[in-house]
Amino acid sequence: MAGPEGNLTDVTSTSHPGALTMDPQAQFCHNPCCPARGQVGRGNIGIQSQKERRYRCLTCGQTFAATKGTPC
Ligand SMILES: [Zn+2]
Repeated sequence: MAGPEGNLTDVTSTSHPGALTMDPQAQFCHNPCCPARGQVGRGNIGIQSQKERRYRCLTCGQTFAATKGTPC
């Protein structure tokens, strides 16, 4: 009864490995008013919330979801 099998909580956390992948390097700011808008790889994008999959632009301070932009 000492095997690692049956550890369901660990399985749940890794059931969607792709959905948990966040890469700020591949993201860009969606703020139309931001000078860094649409520019990838400038290092101005950080992770705001890994749980909510939100990024944050360090240039304008705008936060946005990984899947949609934010209107100006
Ligand atoms: Zn921005």
